[in-house]
Amino acid sequence: HKYVYDFAEGNKDLKDLLGGKGANLAEMTNLGLPVPPGFTITTEACKAYLATGEEPAGLADQVAAHLTALEQAMGRRLGDAADPLLVSVRSGAKFSMPGMMETVLNVGLNDRSVKGLARQAGGSADSATPGGADRFAWDSYRRLIQMFGKTVCEVPGEEFERALDEAKRIKGTSSDLDLDADDLRVLVDAYKKIFSKHTGREFPQDPREQLDLAIRAVFESWNAERAVVYRRQERIPSDLGTAVNVVAMVFGNLGPDSGTGVAFTRDPASGAQGIYGDYLANAQGEDVVAGIRNTVPLQELERIDKPSYDELLDYMARLERHYRDLCDIEFTIERGKLWMLQTRVGKRTAAAAFVIAGQLIDEGLIDLDEALHRVNGGQLAQLMFPRFQLDHDFQPVATGVGASPGAAVGKVVFTSARAVELAGQGENVILVRRETNPDDLNGMIAARGILTSRGGKTSHAAVVARGMGKTCVSGADELDITVPQRRFTVAGQTVKEGDVVSIDGTTGKVYLGEVPVMPSEVVRYFEGEIDPETIDDPLVRAVHRIMTHADARRRLAVRTNADTAADAARARRFGAEGIGLCRTEHMFLGDRRELVERLILARDATGRNNALAALLPLQRADFVEIFREMDGQPVTVRLIDPPLHEFLPPLEQLAVDVAVAQERGEDVAREEALLAAVRRMHEENPMLGLRGVRLGLVIPGLFAMQVRAITEAAVECARQGMHSRPEIMVPLVGAVQELETVRAEAEKIIAEVAGGSDVEVLIGTMIEVPRAALTAGQIAEAAEFFSFGTNDLTQMGWGFSRDDVEGAFFWRYLELGIFGISPFESIDADGIGRLVRIAAEEGRAARPGLSLGVCGEHGGDPESVHFFHSVGLDYVSCSPFRVPVARLEAGRAAV
Ligand code: ADP
Ligand code: MG
Ligand code: MG
Repeated sequence: HKYVYDFAEGNKDLKDLLGGKGANLAEMTNLGLPVPPGFTITTEACKAYLATGEEPAGLADQVAAHLTALEQAMGRRLGDAADPLLVSVRSGAKFSMPGMMETVLNVGLNDRSVKGLARQAGGSADSATPGGADRFAWDSYRRLIQMFGKTVCEVPGEEFERALDEAKRIKGTSSDLDLDADDLRVLVDAYKKIFSKHTGREFPQDPREQLDLAIRAVFESWNAERAVVYRRQERIPSDLGTAVNVVAMVFGNLGPDSGTGVAFTRDPASGAQGIYGDYLANAQGEDVVAGIRNTVPLQELERIDKPSYDELLDYMARLERHYRDLCDIEFTIERGKLWMLQTRVGKRTAAAAFVIAGQLIDEGLIDLDEALHRVNGGQLAQLMFPRFQLDHDFQPVATGVGASPGAAVGKVVFTSARAVELAGQGENVILVRRETNPDDLNGMIAARGILTSRGGKTSHAAVVARGMGKTCVSGADELDITVPQRRFTVAGQTVKEGDVVSIDGTTGKVYLGEVPVMPSEVVRYFEGEIDPETIDDPLVRAVHRIMTHADARRRLAVRTNADTAADAARARRFGAEGIGLCRTEHMFLGDRRELVERLILARDATGRNNALAALLPLQRADFVEIFREMDGQPVTVRLIDPPLHEFLPPLEQLAVDVAVAQERGEDVAREEALLAAVRRMHEENPMLGLRGVRLGLVIPGLFAMQVRAITEAAVECARQGMHSRPEIMVPLVGAVQELETVRAEAEKIIAEVAGGSDVEVLIGTMIEVPRAALTAGQIAEAAEFFSFGTNDLTQMGWGFSRDDVEGAFFWRYLELGIFGISPFESIDADGIGRLVRIAAEEGRAARPGLSLGVCGEHGGDPESVHFFHSVGLDYVSCSPFRVPVARLEAGRAAV
């Protein structure tokens, strides 16, 4: 079994086997770029090791063979006393997991080879720097003991740091650079003592043993706690394993003609073309990340070392053309010689993703289909949130996890009760907690944003905030919060209740004071306020181009969930092709509550009919408005769905009203009747009670009134020259007989009202009760369309009360990995999705041409859209703001 690949044997498509870093090192090697020689141990070897706790048979020999080849190529032997080869041992999984796993540099140094290294380094420009070659060698050695001790042998890192601080204190300096060779030799002794104290053995002097132990440690770092947590959050499978790269060391810390840096082929923040990166002279790679000294902009390298700079720019251009994408790069210059240490297709912001895709089309590097793959709906959604305008001198005081996107500004509060109180006075508040729990729910609802100092993307705060579409930054651990005193401290400042903060749920950044918020350009474009042909904002242009292509490609239509003419109009501007769900609940609210009360309290048919007759023209007028906005497009109207008592005052309030009125000696007959009705209608499980089609079957005339209002509205619109396409949708059907009963009555009314006109009214049903999905073949006989109500289908399929479970225990389910994302957010393809699939297939088998759509929240969720595409639905329907996201994802699903 082949466990080890020389860089020359791999390529960029072998990420599964060689990890991202290894595959790309191989690719650069084969492109002829100057990569220090080395080899990669495969993820297979890692998996075998993790499964058994032992290196698989043959691995040791293969490592030996590749090491020998490496030594021959370099003309040096690993850890040789006179002229040592040193290597780095670097982790690298298929998906990049920044900072999650381990790397050990300078492997091969020991008490003897440290002198050889000094000799190698001697007699160069370096002798001008303090301590010279000796200093460099001893510094490298102490770094090895530190990194090796920490990552391979779990020696607490603080111990080394304390010893280093002590050495600096004795020297009377605050900079590592002031320590000379003698100081570092003393420090190496101190480090070795720390090492042996914690491990019960001496620091290994045998270079091959160092190498083997380091390889093992990298394997094991795959299962380090933080790596496990990170994978769960990022939904990276836990069984991939990491590869290990063994790379000949090159040194950026040999003097002023050496250095190290990172570079991006375009700006990963904006996508703009140009030269982006940082450079640090006389330093090793890890120093850049550690922020030991200030880096200089990469452009400065031109002045410092023009030949290396030009060479680097040339490689950057080549890598871009080769990968056809933004690349990020790690490089090191050793005495004027440039080495490439890493590249990958770089992470980027949402805006940069669109801009770069647009540029690459212009440059002829990718086509429009490929551009669709380079962006996604999550990024588009991010671009639609208002943003902070950060061109002033706002510096973040803390950075946490961007847990739920958006830009929120408000006064700090520390308790749920206070949040409710201040919000009730019309204040914008930010609820600040160490972490939230279900008791904080009301405060979270009242707040503009939520800020916590603990927890990541799956914490309670994060999960609930996302569910509510509320801005949240979690785990901003720089915040020191004291709830009793109602304050927190951060960056040396104290923030009290009532002080204003601004939080960015996309970047996780926290600002003191009020950062101005600006509307999204992308939304202005969708609103039709910006002409994409004339504007030179590259983002808007790219979005326009890619959206146009998505529309051309997609097979799924996109409708919207809209209950009012205003929502319908906006959704249409955003590209909706109809209404997939028009709820009618609001048509019973406001002034009309009283009519609903009359309906419920009616003693006989006459009373009931009078109440319904009064509602009819009001609802007809509502429908006329909506049909007018959606002229020419289908409008699916759901008949009334929620339990009727939701339209009555709450029990407690009624009881109090009655008591007060009685006290005053007023006439309370009506209130008492209402109270009795509310008591009578009380249900233990209202969501499983008298609602949906059941209402229509129990309350005579209710559905009939709605059907009449819809049909009359359509006829009226037709009279005005419009083309209305109403689709009457019956909710909560579980058996075909329910639908047949409603249908028979509705057909009579439609014939009576629309007979002789061009108006056509379809009748269909929601599929949201699991039984409906399983008997879809029967139900299709009585339905001209199905619309999957995936919210209720998920609720009933899982037995989860949607209103209760997210805040109560979903965070725990996510933590345990029972699901990677709430099934209310993204369709559970295996379970609920299976119901959808069955219903779609059996429904269409019974009635070819049956129209199929989805109107649950999932209709705007990127992953779910792909699922619905694969099941062959005709359309998805989602809230107006999600319409562009669904259009984009439907396009992506089709290419
Ligand atoms: P990460 O994945 O965290 O970036 P790396 O394996 O890339 O870890 O290594 C950490 C740092 O050490 C990087 O700055 C890298 O450039 C540097 N480095 C790794 N291998 C070598 C080497 N052989 N010679 C010089 N520097 C190296
Ligand atoms: Mg790196
Ligand atoms: Mg429902």
